[in-house]
Formats: sequence, structure tokens, C-alpha cells
Amino acid sequence: MIMTSDSGEAAPKPMRPAEIVEDEPPPSGCTLPSPAPAIPIGSPKKWDDWRWQMANRIRSPQQLLRFFPELRNGSDLTPLVSKYPMAITPYYASLIHEANPGDPIFQMAVPQMQELIDPPFLSPDPLEECHDMPVPGMVHRYPDRALVIATTMCSTYCRHCTRKRVAGTRETSISKRRLEQIAEYLQQHPQIHDVIISGGDPLTLRTDQLEMILSRIRQVPSVQIIRIGTRVPVVLPQRITENLCRMIQKYHPIWINTHFNHPRELTPESTQACQMLANAGVPLGNQSVLLKGINDRPQIIEELCRGLVRNRVRPYYLYQCDLVRGVEHFRTRLSRGIEIMEYLRGRLSGLAIPLFVVDAPHGGGKIPVLPTYLVTQSPTHTVLRNYEGMLIAYPEPHEETMGPVEEPKPESSPGVWEMLDGQNSVIRPEQSVRLTRRRQCCPAGNLSEGVE
Ligand SMILES: *Cc1c(COP(=O)(O)O)cnc(C)c1O
Ligand code: SF4
Repeated sequence: MIMTSDSGEAAPKPMRPAEIVEDEPPPSGCTLPSPAPAIPIGSPKKWDDWRWQMANRIRSPQQLLRFFPELRNGSDLTPLVSKYPMAITPYYASLIHEANPGDPIFQMAVPQMQELIDPPFLSPDPLEECHDMPVPGMVHRYPDRALVIATTMCSTYCRHCTRKRVAGTRETSISKRRLEQIAEYLQQHPQIHDVIISGGDPLTLRTDQLEMILSRIRQVPSVQIIRIGTRVPVVLPQRITENLCRMIQKYHPIWINTHFNHPRELTPESTQACQMLANAGVPLGNQSVLLKGINDRPQIIEELCRGLVRNRVRPYYLYQCDLVRGVEHFRTRLSRGIEIMEYLRGRLSGLAIPLFVVDAPHGGGKIPVLPTYLVTQSPTHTVLRNYEGMLIAYPEPHEETMGPVEEPKPESSPGVWEMLDGQNSVIRPEQSVRLTRRRQCCPAGNLSEGVE
């Protein structure tokens, strides 16, 4: 049975013995409606049923207080929640350790008054997706890809959502007629090979609804891959059922990009959800958003990315926070992302390193940003630096080095400049861990200067 969110309204705080945060009874004199006895609380079977999780999402400030009585002296969230809706699955709420903004899960899920403070340069749709919609509900920005907004519903509304103007304001799904229009557009534009099913969260749809979308899009012969963008493995892992995996498998190649932001989201449940999808032959990627106070430290991103590859999820993008209204309090400096990328490269398996991207305002699309590894360049040599600070002259192919007659070089002190004509091919930091290790294992041989 699918319960309406109204029945969830009166539900007491669902319990899961080991993980649930403080379980105080409501304070005496509290005016909360008394709990409805209809939902068997704490029954593991219900807890593991994704429809129960959906029906019992925390949607109102009253329900939130029932979950976290310690918030009762805080601001009234009613106006905020009517502007930017709230929904939190009981599962995701159970990952909150402390009901305060120092807790990363709390910050991503529980509305905060700062959402209403907007500097003037922000807009509801900075990516201008609305202008790239040839068919309502479909964004066609890049030549070979199109993005379908399959539903506006999510199981949990991320406070940092970039589609805050869409997600959850009305919980609707794509109609058959709309889907038909989209399929026709795809048919008329055979250059589109990659269709991204997004939203909202498409995995909040019933399996038969999702199958209707996948099968219709699969009928277009020019569509090669279908991607699903979903946060369900993170916030509603119970949704990844054998039944869903069997359905998805019929429409391969299907790729899934999910959205883990913090190592605390890597739980036994989310690990199992990823495992089931991977076992169903779905390659998994992850798109994280860099969020102030949540994951904007290099060590956190490192731990997250290590955990992801261990779970067969390839870190794909790390996004700079968009210039969207209502998420400004999450935005970091761009330089923070560059520092993080500087830290990861060399330290972490290349498989675990995402690409840091800025989804540019004015519909500019995703632009990769990374530390500068190219130090300087002449027609014959390019000077590169590695993560340790070692400078290496990389010579161009031989024909091109036979250029104009060499001019005699003036006397000069050594420097990067000498690498541009090959006089020096390497400059290395004396103190690097790696060189110290090399000296220990091979004291004489490996440190000769020049080409090795
Ligand atoms: C992100 C995005 C895509 C996919 O881009 P990739 O770089 O291929 O992952 C496609 N269309 C739109 C509108 C997007 O925002
Ligand atoms: S799941 Fe995605 S679309 Fe839904 S609120 Fe989170 S970021 Fe936005």
C-alpha cells in the first residue's frame, strides 16, 4: 500500500534501534498532534520498503520537530518550506548524528533560514535551462546529448539543489503526451546519442512509469546510451530492488550517475544499492557538489572518492556550487575546488579523481577547472610540473626541434628558462617524500639529472 504523505504527517518518529538519533518523547505541554497508530513503527520490513520511506518522508515543520525535538526553539520554518519544499526520508534523517548545522547530513536535508537571503546576482535559473528547451521538459544544450526532466519529485529535497526552482514545487511526472513529443524530437535529431533522464529524481517513479520512459526512448534508433541521474542510492537506497534492476537491464546500455557528497552517506544500505546496480551491469558514476562546511576539505573529498571506487562508483564530476537562489550559503570560493584538485592529484588513484567543473552561468555549460600543470612553453619544449613541484621539460618531436639556427644564449643564472631550449630537463624539489624513498632504496643510481 502506498500511503499518502498526509498519513505521514501524523506519524511519530520512525525508529531504527542502532542508528536513530535521540529518541526523546515530545516535551510535556507540547501541542503536536498525537501520533497516528496506523503505521507500525520500527518494523524492519516497513523500514526496508521504499514506499514506506516515501510515504513517511518528513515534510512539515511539525514532523521535523517530532524527529528532532531539540529544534523546537528554532525559527519557524513554515514560510521557508512553502517557498522551497522540504522532504527527508526517514532513512536519510536517521543518518543525522546531531540536529545542528555542524552535521553535514543535517545541512543537506534540513531547511535553514539563510536560504531566504539572496545576493542580487543570483537567479532562479542561472544555467538558463528554460531557454534551451525545444520541448517543455527537455533541455537540449550540447550537440549530442539531451536531458529529460522526467519528474519534479525527489525523495529528499537537497537544500543545495541547483533545480530548486523546479524540484518539489509541484510533484508531477512527465505525461505520456509529453514523452511522445520528446521521442519525436529525438527522432528528428539523430545527432542526439545520449539521453539523460533527470528531474527531480526519476527513481522516485514507479517501476512501470520508468519503464514506459526507458522503452519509449529506446525505440529511437539514434539514441545510443541512456543515463539516469538519481540521488536515490544515497537518500532512499531501499528503492534499488531486484525488480527495478531486472527492468533496467532490459534497456542496456543504461548508465547511472548518482550524487554522494559526504563519506557519511556511504552506509551498508547505500553500498548494497550500488552493488545491486553494478551487478545489473550498470556503470555507476558520481556527481558531487562542493558545499561549504560539508565537504570543502580535501581530506573529506579524498575519503569520499576512495569510498566510492571501493563501491564500484567512479567519481565523475565535482561541481562548483551554482549561482542559484537559495543555495548561496553553500557556495565556496572557486579556489577551494582548485586546492582540492591540487591535493588529490598524485595522492589518489586517478580512477578516484573527479573532474572539477563550473556549470557556467548564461547556459555556458560545464567548464573544467584545474590547477595549472603547464608552466611554460617554447616551440621545442614544454615545461610541465607534477604534483610534487618537480619541473620537467618535455621535448617536442625531433623534426620540430630542427628549427631556426641556435642563437648563442647569454650567460644567466639557472632557472625554468633554461628548460625551454633543453639545457636543463628537470628541476626537482629536494625534500619530496618520493625522492627520499628513492634515495633509500637506490642511493646511487636513480637521481642522475636529466632524462631518465
Ligand atoms: C550536464 C548536462 C548534460 C551532460 O553533460 P556531460 O558533460 O555529458 O555529463 C547534458 N545536458 C545538460 C543540459 C546538462 O546540464
Ligand atoms: S535529488 Fe537532485 S533534483 Fe532532487 S533535490 Fe536533490 S539535487 Fe535536486
